[in-house]
Amino acid sequence: MRRDNSENTPVYVTQPDLPPLEEFTASLKQIWGNKWLTNGGPFHQKFEEAIAEYLGVKYISVFSNGTLALVSALQALRITGEVITTPFSFVATTHSIWWNNIKPVFADIEPGFFNLDPEKVEAAITPQTTAIMPVHVYGNPCDVEKLRKIADTYGLKLIYDAAHAFGVKKNGSSILNFGDLVTLSFHATKVFNTVEGGAIICRDEKMKQRIDFLKNFGYAGETTVIEPGINAKMNELQAAYGLLQLKYVDSYIAKRKTISKKYRVQLEGIKGIRLLQDIEGVEHNYSYFPILIDSQGFGRTRDELNEELKKHNIFARKYFYPLISQFPTYRGLSSAKHENLPIAEKAAKEVLCLPIYPALELDSIDLICSIIREYGV
Ligand SMILES: *Cc1c(COP(=O)(O)O)cnc(C)c1O
Repeated sequence: MRRDNSENTPVYVTQPDLPPLEEFTASLKQIWGNKWLTNGGPFHQKFEEAIAEYLGVKYISVFSNGTLALVSALQALRITGEVITTPFSFVATTHSIWWNNIKPVFADIEPGFFNLDPEKVEAAITPQTTAIMPVHVYGNPCDVEKLRKIADTYGLKLIYDAAHAFGVKKNGSSILNFGDLVTLSFHATKVFNTVEGGAIICRDEKMKQRIDFLKNFGYAGETTVIEPGINAKMNELQAAYGLLQLKYVDSYIAKRKTISKKYRVQLEGIKGIRLLQDIEGVEHNYSYFPILIDSQGFGRTRDELNEELKKHNIFARKYFYPLISQFPTYRGLSSAKHENLPIAEKAAKEVLCLPIYPALELDSIDLICSIIREYGV
């Protein structure tokens, strides 16, 4: 029997995980003692080492947030001209291109997992193209082999926005090791958070040094500024918090996995509802739980279902609607035209991301699933 949740506390699409307060307080005491709050302090140093080890990557530079990591990644590779990217992402992906005075060119996605379609990428290349910026949407890996091949063939750089792909592995190795540069976000809404935060992963020590200069105004020594860098440093409080989060993130992901399984069992086979399957050989992070509502089969539209859930105090999210290509700044671009992006348009119209976070109660999952089951016609 369905219980009514309209009187209960709202259930949102996500809720951050925080480390035990007493552990953070102990770290704060150290910071108070150090009187070193930012500019590459001891916690920053320790966190970079620990997170590189956790993720299985060699070089990482942590940032104050994921957007500045993206902006700086484009700077680090001196990208100009045009960058091919996906319209099916959080708006910061394209904004980072815009902030570098580069023209974003949208290519369509593939219908299976909504990542950039390599064939569409190849078709969008012009003499001005200098890089490709794909996103591992919902943490599902892009076709990294095909994208690498295209990048190599045309002499393009490959910068992955891996904001959703923290800890994701493919055939035992980190997905974050594919690409010239890879960025992460540690925003409060992500699987792993440092309140706000981000990172760039790179492939050699020289590049890491350049990125470290870039995030600190371009300072390469006390009196040497090598280029117009920005201020994107992670501070000591974020780094200390991040160090604690690393101890718990495996348990966070394990709980997400349990929730994802429960959703699957209960939602499998509902007419008009499609779930994204786990991929063989991929270690997922269960960052999102998207479902696709085919209004023909389900008998109701995605928006109708979303409103029905809201009546029960369940707040799912339409990630990613509208498409980035539909925002005023970008919709005038010729690559933003509807006929260029049919798969992305369809996904944006049908997708709904259901609540998923470690503290989500199993009763709430039962409720959400029963609302969906009973609402279809
Ligand atoms: C969250 C997110 C970002 C932005 O990261 P912030 O840390 O919030 O600046 C960029 N790209 C994608 C795909 C994201 O989901």
